[in-house]
Amino acid sequence: MIVEMLTGGVIALTSATLGFALARLSPERRSESKQGKPICGCDHERAFHNLKTGECREQVQVVTKTDEWGDPIKWVFEQCKCQHYTGPEPITQYYAPEIES
Ligand SMILES: [Zn+2]
Ligand SMILES: [Zn+2]
Repeated sequence: MIVEMLTGGVIALTSATLGFALARLSPERRSESKQGKPICGCDHERAFHNLKTGECREQVQVVTKTDEWGDPIKWVFEQCKCQHYTGPEPITQYYAPEIES
């Protein structure tokens, strides 16, 4: 009886540990695939944004004239009006020069 109880306890413990390990693993995997390319609120990649000013350098299509059915027939390209990247920050690895003498 005691042995049975012990075995049951061990199995329960093992599955709990396994579940914990899996739970720990899966969010990491999810965030990894989620990250992909960091996209700003303006729908452009972080790479398009000026690192100093924050301005987005990507061109956006602005429709200036549509036909009677509302389909664009004339458009111009303007610089995106985004002034600051608002998307997720990628994990940047800062280069720290060794100050040791
Ligand atoms: Zn932007
Ligand atoms: Zn933009």
